Amino acid sequence: MRPKVIAGNWKMNKDADGSVELINGLITRSGEIPNGVTVVLCPPFTSLAIAQRLLDGVPMALGGQNMHYEDEGAFTGEISAGMLKSVGCTFVIIGHSERRQIFGETNDLVNKKVKKALSAGLRPIICVGETLEERERGVTEQVINVQLKGALQDVPENEVSRAIIAYEPVWAIGTGKNATPDQAADVHKYIRKILGQFYSWNIAEKTIIQYGGSVKPDNARGLLAKADIDGALVGGACLKPESFMEIVKASAS
Ligand code: PEP
Repeated sequence: MRPKVIAGNWKMNKDADGSVELINGLITRSGEIPNGVTVVLCPPFTSLAIAQRLLDGVPMALGGQNMHYEDEGAFTGEISAGMLKSVGCTFVIIGHSERRQIFGETNDLVNKKVKKALSAGLRPIICVGETLEERERGVTEQVINVQLKGALQDVPENEVSRAIIAYEPVWAIGTGKNATPDQAADVHKYIRKILGQFYSWNIAEKTIIQYGGSVKPDNARGLLAKADIDGALVGGACLKPESFMEIVKASAS
């Protein structure tokens, strides 16, 4: 049985005070986290240190929303894996579609970040997903194949199962239009199949594959009930303690 992993991607939301309020709201509800469910909060970089202090002793993990692949140096505006670890991160989102589309991140860059995250001891949450135009053209599987192959290039078998794959159809992110449980499950099954081809069936069976794209309390149960959907990467609905915790609880039933 793979554990469920529910991660909240706060994106560029919540200043310091707003972060304290949201984290305290989540801490109040932390007793509701079901056994076997890992909860990961990914606030903006500016709130990670305060989150680490507030979450001391609370069963919620921290993650960055991005990182650079170098350890240090003249990379103005960037954050390294070591810096994320120094404020308590154990996860990092890599290759989110907003990074790919708005900031021009390529599969090659995603691959460098994935390798650095793994070697630094972070668990990368690697985002892949097709646009609406690609889905309508019938090339979803090819797109996912190229993105996954690119992200995992030269990632050794003994490290890959620490990575989490997040299937996030671009057309479902922030649009209120989620993939149906069957649509998502088909792609998750395909991702597991290609992980089996790249590595082995044992690795494919162990790898956590999250769904992301307009996950809300009212659709989470249906999505998370599917055999190959091992969790969720949640955007909008993670900004309210009640809606995020409803999704966390839905993952256990
Ligand atoms: C995301 O940003 O990864 C995401 C899935 O956002 P939303 O839940 O708002 O669609």
